[in-house]
Amino acid sequence: MFINFLHPENLSQKVLRVIFSIYLGVTCLVTIVQFLTEYMTTQDSIVRELQQLEQTVTDPIATSLWQYNSKQLDVLVTGLLKMPIIEGVDIFDSNGEKIISRRSYNQSSVPLSLFDTKSDLKWVLNETEINLGLLTLYSSSEVVLGRVLFGFTLIAITAIIKLSILFWLFVWAFDRFLATPLKELMSQVDEVQLSQNFSKRINLSITEQNEVSKLQDHMNNMLSAMEKGRKQLLQDEQAKRKWLEDAVAKRTEELQILNEKLKDLAAYDSLTGALNRGNFFETARHLFVLAQRQKSPASFILMDLDHFKIVNDTYGHFVGDKVLSHFTQTIQTFLRKSDLLGRIGGEEFAIFLPDTEIEGAGHLADKLRNAIRDAVLEVDGQTITYTVSFGVTSSEPKDTSLDALFKRADLKLYGAKEKGRDRVER
Ligand code: GH3
Ligand code: MG
Ligand code: MG
Repeated sequence: MFINFLHPENLSQKVLRVIFSIYLGVTCLVTIVQFLTEYMTTQDSIVRELQQLEQTVTDPIATSLWQYNSKQLDVLVTGLLKMPIIEGVDIFDSNGEKIISRRSYNQSSVPLSLFDTKSDLKWVLNETEINLGLLTLYSSSEVVLGRVLFGFTLIAITAIIKLSILFWLFVWAFDRFLATPLKELMSQVDEVQLSQNFSKRINLSITEQNEVSKLQDHMNNMLSAMEKGRKQLLQDEQAKRKWLEDAVAKRTEELQILNEKLKDLAAYDSLTGALNRGNFFETARHLFVLAQRQKSPASFILMDLDHFKIVNDTYGHFVGDKVLSHFTQTIQTFLRKSDLLGRIGGEEFAIFLPDTEIEGAGHLADKLRNAIRDAVLEVDGQTITYTVSFGVTSSEPKDTSLDALFKRADLKLYGAKEKGRDRVER
């Protein structure tokens, strides 16, 4: 507590120190005034005692002087010096010459201050007063202090006891009414801050209504406002997050649809729906490698529409496009799910047939050729017929890549064209 008092750490200790310091100062001042008053009163009473003594001894001393009885004078002075309040005696004659000057102290213990009383020494002869000289009696501060010592000690002890009791009363009062509630308030505020739980409330053990309890109410109001604000913020945040999540989900869905569309665009020919050239060859190459590894057969059919330029020239490009669509739709109906159909040029198509021998492929080509030849296409009231030439080949053990099949099928197709078109060459 004393260390705290010398080096205060908190407000209540600081206030306690200020108040106690002021109280200590005032008490010291009052005690000093009490000391001085006691000293002055005692000195006055000693002066009065000296004057009474002088009145008693002036006549015998005057008689001794008149009779020149120095022995009696010496006895009288010695007697005076033995008195506890007298520190010195001076006797002067009528001319101011010192007759006797004696002190009860020696030179090594001279008192701090001396004070005296003087009275004239007179002799009455025939009703005439004759001045014989002057008697001075001295007393000192030591005599006064010796007399007031007990009173001083009492005052000092009372002051110390009063100070000690008041100090501990101050300490108790500050601790009870200020330090403890403030400490409790601080620890509860710290708890709320650490837990980040604004639904908590400060609940002090003090019951009386004062500034600390008002502070508690204010803080609780503040916590309520914070909790409300936080809840609102949380709601806003959740709403914002939901909106963002919905927006992201919607955008992702849109992107997925777009991606699918792009994939289709990249993979399929938009006019006929057959695989485009790049995708057809890439997939066919994988299937060919697989077939070679598994030593299973695979066939390749190359198709080219006959005199398609004439179709275009006769009916126009729009009809030409319709013919290309019709061609793919027709042959799709003959294909298995595992077969690949690709548009590899303007009016040139290819089919890759996994797990298919040359006989099966030739047979399929025949069926396709017949189907196309027999088909009648109606566009804008016009009847269109067309034919296709086929080059058919199958994988051989020496084939190292799909290109070998493609080249052979191309040669066969060329042969079919040479031999008059609308033919299957294998
Ligand atoms: P051949 O029997 O020798 O194959 O004769 P062809 O006329 O079919 O051959 P050619 O190579 O001379 O002409 C092919 C024509 O196909 C020329 C081109 O305008 C047409 N063509 C290519 N792609 C398309 C298309 O997407 N739409 C239309 N309408 N015509 C196309
Ligand atoms: Mg062609
Ligand atoms: Mg052609």
